[in-house]
Amino acid sequence: MTTQEMQNNIRETFKERFGESGELFASAGRINLIGEHTDYNGGFVFPGAIDKVIMAEIRPNGTDKVRVYSMDIDDYAEFGLNEEDAPKASWARYVFGVCREIIKRGGTVKGFDAVFAGNVPLGAGLSSSAALESCFAFALNELFNDGKIEKFELARIGQSTEHNYCGVNCGIMDQFASVFGKEGNLMRLDCRSGEYEYFPFRPEGYKLVLIDSRVKHELADSPYNKRRESCERVAAKLGHETLRDATMEELEAVKSDISAEDFSRAKFVIEEKDRVLAVCDALERGDYETVGRKMYETHEGLSKDYEVSCEELDFLNDVARETGVAGSRIMGGGFGGCTINLVADDRHDTFVAEAVKRFNEKYGHEPMVYDVVISDGARRVKE
Ligand code: ADP
Ligand code: MG
Repeated sequence: MTTQEMQNNIRETFKERFGESGELFASAGRINLIGEHTDYNGGFVFPGAIDKVIMAEIRPNGTDKVRVYSMDIDDYAEFGLNEEDAPKASWARYVFGVCREIIKRGGTVKGFDAVFAGNVPLGAGLSSSAALESCFAFALNELFNDGKIEKFELARIGQSTEHNYCGVNCGIMDQFASVFGKEGNLMRLDCRSGEYEYFPFRPEGYKLVLIDSRVKHELADSPYNKRRESCERVAAKLGHETLRDATMEELEAVKSDISAEDFSRAKFVIEEKDRVLAVCDALERGDYETVGRKMYETHEGLSKDYEVSCEELDFLNDVARETGVAGSRIMGGGFGGCTINLVADDRHDTFVAEAVKRFNEKYGHEPMVYDVVISDGARRVKE
């Protein structure tokens, strides 16, 4: 469904349900080009908003009740704005959480009617939940707070919603990217200071395509926590708060005092930090071949040193290499999910066809394919 069709459907549905019409807002899903497992090490991430959005039509209704209809789930929820009014449906808790987090910060939210829909695939690693939170946070700021809440605070409102109402203990990257996204730009976010900088991303002659393996390996011994512990141990050994400040020379110097495993984990994190900076330099030169090479290096590091890949993702990475894709890597925490690929226009169709066919032959189901374009984040929809 195109975004325009979605917009028309929302308009029509809102009118049917609520009579008059309201105002339209949208926010986007996101990709992260490079910078994986760097957030909890005080390093950099490098996300951008994409052309897949959640869109909502909203109108204050003069009551103290929220009435909201989710078109995609075909479900309706009605709730008050006090803490004890939390709705049961998990999709509605995202909306409720955003309302509550605004109120908790001293902002205003009153009753409103809303209809929303989206084309960010759910649970594919493109952060549909951040798109949903950011869409409502942005809209409620415009409608009830004269736009006075700072953009970074809107992102934090989304993050706190996940923590306090949805049971997801996430970082800030997804909501940051969804709120701040700008067409043709990626954002380098410094996870330690919260500072960020826009970098041009207009890969003429290339496409970004995600291949979603649709596998998720749940491992018993919580590998995420084990990775964090390794990083913390090495940082402490080097006398740093996080690996952000560590260099490869420092790491080499303690090699014999730490386990081989901790060494590999820290090596990946230090190299990944440098790769993000190298990609930023390359983008300023418009050098997308170097960007691609760095993506392969990240995959290699995630697979061999950090050991968070899996057979299916390594397979997709191999297919990318074999079909001449410029860059390919796991996107997200690992153990499943998707690869992000930077592909020259003339290789795109061959790569996608090969990846789908070969993956299906080997693993018995087709991966999902999403072409993405770096686009605007949270906004009022212009008609
Ligand atoms: P993701 O990686 O896509 O963010 P999550 O599990 O964090 O996956 O969030 C997905 C949840 O967000 C869904 O289960 C649903 O509750 C909510 N959500 C996302 N998109 C929509 C949508 N279009 N309509 C209704 N709810 C949505
Ligand atoms: Mg999410």
